[in-house]
Amino acid sequence: MPASSPPLKGGCLCGRVQFQLNQTPLISLACHCRGCQKLTSSAFSLNVMVPLLAFELTKGSTVVGALHKKDARYGFCDWCKCWITTAPPPESGIINVRSTLLEDALACKPFVEMWTKEKLPWASTPAKHSFDEQPSADAFPALIEEYSRR
Ligand SMILES: [Zn+2]
Ligand SMILES: [Zn+2]
Repeated sequence: MPASSPPLKGGCLCGRVQFQLNQTPLISLACHCRGCQKLTSSAFSLNVMVPLLAFELTKGSTVVGALHKKDARYGFCDWCKCWITTAPPPESGIINVRSTLLEDALACKPFVEMWTKEKLPWASTPAKHSFDEQPSADAFPALIEEYSRR
């Protein structure tokens, strides 16, 4: 779906952390959970999932922030405190990157939205698939396959 082809470049607000996605994202997601509302200070987070090996930091590095969880490490710019990544355990092989930070942020229209049970009633996205909570791991292969055909 993204109009531009990889590498897709992005960076934090201050520019001290820059990265590129060396592969077209597997899927684009909006998350309406209360945690994302607080982390973004907004209505929902916008994310693209990419294979861990396709995420390349080209400048600076991220520091762990948010709840400092072991099972989902949140990466931030240490200077401007911009939320950049969410990394599940490395064995998952994937990383979620805030798509709003991409130079071509328009290219990653949300395809799936999740945690709609916590969504602000007036917040909406154009996502084709909606889930009350986090979709189960079994749901992703079909969603990723459908996204790749767009
Ligand atoms: Zn920054
Ligand atoms: Zn969330």
